[in-house]
Amino acid sequence: MKNIPDYWFTIEPYVFMDIKNKHALLYNTLDGATIESTHDDIIGILRETLQEENCGVALLTNEQYQQREVNRFICELREKFMGDVIEVSLSNAKPVQILPFYNYSKEQELYKKNNFSSYKNILEKLFEISLHIDATTNITELIHFLATLPKNLTFNIVGNLEKVPNYGELFSYLDHCSSPKNLLCSYKNVIALQPIFENNFSYQISVSIPIDVERWNHAMETLLSQTLPVEFVFEVSSEDDIQQSERLIEQYQIDKYKLKPIYTGNNIRFFKEEVFLSKEDILSTPMTMKDFFARQAVNLYDFGKITILPNGDVYANLNHPLLGNIYTNNIHEILHKEVEEGKSWLRVRDQAPCSDCVYQWICPSPSNYEIAIGRSNLCHIKMTE
Ligand code: SF4
Repeated sequence: MKNIPDYWFTIEPYVFMDIKNKHALLYNTLDGATIESTHDDIIGILRETLQEENCGVALLTNEQYQQREVNRFICELREKFMGDVIEVSLSNAKPVQILPFYNYSKEQELYKKNNFSSYKNILEKLFEISLHIDATTNITELIHFLATLPKNLTFNIVGNLEKVPNYGELFSYLDHCSSPKNLLCSYKNVIALQPIFENNFSYQISVSIPIDVERWNHAMETLLSQTLPVEFVFEVSSEDDIQQSERLIEQYQIDKYKLKPIYTGNNIRFFKEEVFLSKEDILSTPMTMKDFFARQAVNLYDFGKITILPNGDVYANLNHPLLGNIYTNNIHEILHKEVEEGKSWLRVRDQAPCSDCVYQWICPSPSNYEIAIGRSNLCHIKMTE
């Protein structure tokens, strides 16, 4: 009697796999290739490989192997170097495959406790700080607070420096830090920095449309008169804003810029057309296995960042509750509050409808747009209205 072989079915360890309801996604982190399936038998086999006791290898009977859909899936898997089958008779024992399976719900508490518990560790997580300054800012106290922070932070200085009489004191202090310092202001408030403050400073100039031509020309003259790197951020809330921005970019030969969509409360159509993600957008982002893990663990927009307002109040994200004040709390207390009670650093895409979506961990972390618009998914995949 002819021997009918059964097979061991495996997925390669560099393949990220997710199954939601009856939809499976396999993503090859080496080249971005994907395979999707909604076929019951294939979902069943993939679920089998994820069973802890199966150690990443499922038994595929010959009958299963011969099924047209399953066979086609295995061919695609092999073509894309994402998995394989081997005849059971060719191995002495059941093989073992290490799957990069990340059980976030179990790991989350552990992650917090292990990685954030010591004061030393928590300061290592901080890497960017935004300082909103105005005439009411106590620059001396602010510098005292900054002196307690790691020296390698990126600093964003936000505000109209013309209105901050002793900003030079702050800049002198920051000038001693070798890390990047970005000056964020409107084109209407650009001032020329004294040459002594040019150590690793750069401008990030926001431009709201339509521009005030006189002030725009003045800003361009000021920026041209000094050597600091400049990036323009065009704030756009409509198609027309995009076109006007593109005209300015061309006319002034601006090579470093970005367009920042602004939600006004009544331009959801613009957002659906220009900002909401399609499946092609989502799958076109190259992802490493580390990226998948990072998106399950932390919010990549907010993690490691804090903002200090002119009155000393500190936030991880200005849309979320206050963490403390630099005049009454030290940095350890502030960061611990974020990790223990905060809503920003660990805000991941774990709410419906994303929690039921197979693209959950490929999609970018939730941004401030989700908060402003009041929905947890900005995509064309699962439309909620
Ligand atoms: S529902 Fe959420 S996870 Fe799914 S594609 Fe949309 S935004 Fe991404």
